[in-house]
Amino acid sequence: MASGLQIRQMHSFQVFRDVPPLRQFRRQKLLENRTIGLVPTMGALHEGHLSLIRQAAQDNTDVVVSIYVNPTQFGVNEDLSSYPRTWDADVQKLEELNNELSAAESAASGQPSRGRITAILAPTSKVMYPTLPPTSDPNGHGSFVTITPLATKLEGASRPVFFRGVATVCTKLFNIVTPDRVYFGQKDIQQCVIIKRMVKDFHIGTEVKIGPTVRESDGLAMSSRNVYLGARRRAVGLVLYRALKAAEDAFKSGKVSRSDILGAANRVTQDVLSEQQALPPSERVLYEVDYISLADPESLDELDVVDPSKGAILSGAVKMFPIEDPKSGEDCGLGSGAVPVRLIDNLILDPST
Ligand code: AMP
Repeated sequence: MASGLQIRQMHSFQVFRDVPPLRQFRRQKLLENRTIGLVPTMGALHEGHLSLIRQAAQDNTDVVVSIYVNPTQFGVNEDLSSYPRTWDADVQKLEELNNELSAAESAASGQPSRGRITAILAPTSKVMYPTLPPTSDPNGHGSFVTITPLATKLEGASRPVFFRGVATVCTKLFNIVTPDRVYFGQKDIQQCVIIKRMVKDFHIGTEVKIGPTVRESDGLAMSSRNVYLGARRRAVGLVLYRALKAAEDAFKSGKVSRSDILGAANRVTQDVLSEQQALPPSERVLYEVDYISLADPESLDELDVVDPSKGAILSGAVKMFPIEDPKSGEDCGLGSGAVPVRLIDNLILDPST
């Protein structure tokens, strides 16, 4: 209790672990005519998360960042126990971001005031799942939100409980915080489509805003899971982005058929895999393409032809296999290269392109 109090005094934001105090905070903000932007995260914060928080601080007086590794969205064989948890570094990054927001405001005096991170919601699983313990069993009991058929496509095909978990935890977070706006990253495009559908179908009184994918300088989409890659897989992992770019180039050059657009992507993934297979195990990186998809932006139905007035979502997932024969001293990433890493990425084929 005492340390909880200390945490609150040490930071420029309040840290909430339970619902009633956060509701009181929210009620006060409403009375003061302040607006709340919620950025849901699982922690292990990087520039992708921070860019969403910056956007939320532009649009709202108060930003609430939730940090919660939600068990119900991990399949039984997925990486729940090893998912990176970096609380101290996360809090530090949020402090630095608040300093940055204050500095930006004083530099632009006379501009309308910008928001700040004023609360972190870091609940326990008992708070988030107050009745039955959280389950990853597709047939398990509990109170769940399901958005079908969207949740069964693409990522959902190989991760059957994933979007049930995401939709359920986001409903809980939206009910707890009642934010004016919620912020999600384009990096997880299917999540964005599902959350938009959920907010529409359940008449949830919030606005869904999507921030662009933040990438490393070579184009790799930032992800909390990239720390598992290590240098060897990090380099080859760029294949997915390169494949999607090749498909985007085909569309931009006037191609609209599935075979022309996805053919360009598949050539890249095939060529890189052949190059890797020709190398000795101590140098190569093997991977499997889970899917490369060309889908309708709202229904996520696969398209044979892109209607240029509607555009499309190009997305893909690649499973990078564990590193073989690591050399001594090789940078194999967190988990010593033994953890398979699933990379996802996407590009939106804009109707105006
Ligand atoms: P996560 O902590 O991975 O659940 O992500 C929390 C939020 O950050 C989600 O809305 C993600 O889509 C978003 N996000 C993750 N990586 C990126 C990125 N590279 N660029 C933009 N947003 C991202």
